[in-house]
Amino acid sequence: MEKMPKILVTGGAGYIGCVTTHHLLQRGFEVVVIDDLSRGHRENVAPERLHVLRLQDTEGVANLLGGVDAVVHFAAHSAVGESMREPELYFSNNVGGTVSLLEAMARANVRRLVFSSTAAVYGDPEKLPIPEDAQIAPVNPYGQSKAIVEKILNELDHYRGLRSVALRYFNACGAEPDAGLGEEHNPETHLIPLLFRAVATGEPIQIFGNDYATPDGTCIRDYIHVSDLAAAHVAALDYLMAGGGSAAYNVGTGTGQTVMEVLRAVEEVTGKSVPYKIAARREGDPTELVADSKKLRKTLGWQPQRSGIQEIVRDAWAYYQLKFK
Ligand code: UDP
Repeated sequence: MEKMPKILVTGGAGYIGCVTTHHLLQRGFEVVVIDDLSRGHRENVAPERLHVLRLQDTEGVANLLGGVDAVVHFAAHSAVGESMREPELYFSNNVGGTVSLLEAMARANVRRLVFSSTAAVYGDPEKLPIPEDAQIAPVNPYGQSKAIVEKILNELDHYRGLRSVALRYFNACGAEPDAGLGEEHNPETHLIPLLFRAVATGEPIQIFGNDYATPDGTCIRDYIHVSDLAAAHVAALDYLMAGGGSAAYNVGTGTGQTVMEVLRAVEEVTGKSVPYKIAARREGDPTELVADSKKLRKTLGWQPQRSGIQEIVRDAWAYYQLKFK
């Protein structure tokens, strides 16, 4: 029988990492997970697969890379607001941690990497939907930390023959309730879980601004189901394993929803009204972020399957009830 590739997943106890690990296992890949559990959750990974260590432990990471064909690298901090208050944390963890991982990969001679990047590398885009060749101009340390890593990856393509795919996520959401996997941040800052919390507690959610230049005045985002995101990682791995060269891809649907449209979807799915109040704009929020995802569709043959807003909210709500009831 053909030997299936062995993949090391960093941050596999986190939201997108655990769902991608689940998809990789379903595909029959051998998977090893590293997570320091600073933000991830132990119960998201089978104990025999989980290695609790920090990426800064270069030697420890290198020791786990024996026989590994490719790395999928999620481990990072990802809260924009926190990154503005604690920029050093974002540079030391997201950039420093990645450099240590890359050093370990060089030692172990592992030359394929799928990297979690973000639409935040574009800052306030000039053109919508945003193509991959748009200007890289992040407006917060989180986006900047990811943009810096993308640059380092380009250097290592040249000097080390490292082949990498950077996936620039738009708004990750939804869940895999059947696998018991979903979104659980502490503190929670994301729209859909906060809408559920408002429904569950009766405490109004704050809507950050209704005076944007959009049809209903609230911000527009491109919401992508975590299952479709995971599928993009599997497609990127297949591409790298087949000898594909380094590239960056947007992962989004190409269609945007306003905050109020998402709120209405939550009302429809839960059958309850969402208490809310209009608050001031949140610093650093661009009016609209929508992906041009043609490149990913064309080159990797990827298609979103579960990213209709109703399906996203339905899956996220099923997970929320599982976890928080
Ligand atoms: N948002 C909001 N109230 C909240 C949280 C988010 O109005 O309590 C809005 C936010 O301004 C943005 C959208 O919902 O327009 C998505 O925000 P989220 O933090 O989920 O993701 P981001 O777009 O920041 O990555």
